Amino acid sequence: MTDVVAELERRYPPSWAEEWDRVGLVLGEPTAAVRRVLCVVDVVPETVAEALAVGADMIVAHHPLLLRGVSSVAPTTVKGRIVHQLIRAGVALYVAHTNADVASPGVSDALAARFGLTGLRPLQRPAAGSAAHGDERGIGRIGELPRPMTLAELTRHAAAVLPVTSWGVRAAGDPGRMVRTLAVSGGSGDSFLGAATAAGVDAFLTSDLRHHPASEHLAADGPALIDAAHWATERPWLDDLAALLREAPGVETLVSDLDTDPWTVHAAAPVVDDKEPDREG
Ligand SMILES: [Zn+2]
Repeated sequence: MTDVVAELERRYPPSWAEEWDRVGLVLGEPTAAVRRVLCVVDVVPETVAEALAVGADMIVAHHPLLLRGVSSVAPTTVKGRIVHQLIRAGVALYVAHTNADVASPGVSDALAARFGLTGLRPLQRPAAGSAAHGDERGIGRIGELPRPMTLAELTRHAAAVLPVTSWGVRAAGDPGRMVRTLAVSGGSGDSFLGAATAAGVDAFLTSDLRHHPASEHLAADGPALIDAAHWATERPWLDDLAALLREAPGVETLVSDLDTDPWTVHAAAPVVDDKEPDREG
């Protein structure tokens, strides 16, 4: 495991994580051999079952399994059950979360690559001590689309280039607005609406946007908003993560394509056919 952890910490130093975050080795013997790693966004019963089924001896996850204080891992809770399953099967768990978000390349670079964005720069740079020239660390990425698109077209394009989920992709703003410069931020993006406005981008793609912050942002003439499923914005990064881990000798890496977004059903009202001739005429 030493080689795998060394690769992870070289690219995603744990010290880059937010203060509230909990990253690094969660469980597993550091001296254990690692031959097969499964990369996942979420450690949930479905991805744990997948790890056991493919014979992985390590899971590298984006979201922390245990973020807040824990006083019990009894298997009577979902998380306690997962801890028991993994230890019993000898599967280690490692988390790279906000340290992978700010890294360059990091989570949002993989998202930006799905759109072919060029001239990438961070949406929001880390707070202090990192303004060194050439340091492209930071949350989110801003770049230019290969060609301008209307918001409606870009929303359909996003649904096509992002991993498929039931949630799909929705957008807020004038559907005809032209978008040349796009900001993207994997995961929950509510807190970066101000940064997107300050950056002067045409649109901002992220996830978990809420009614009031979104409507107030648009009323203040902020960039158009594109809201995709949380999992779909972070899943692209797993391919980069897997490529990185392949650099550790003798390690096989697999990527989970299980959609762990909690939303499983999506419906839109039937489209009214307004071409139907007016019978009362
Ligand atoms: Zn996330």
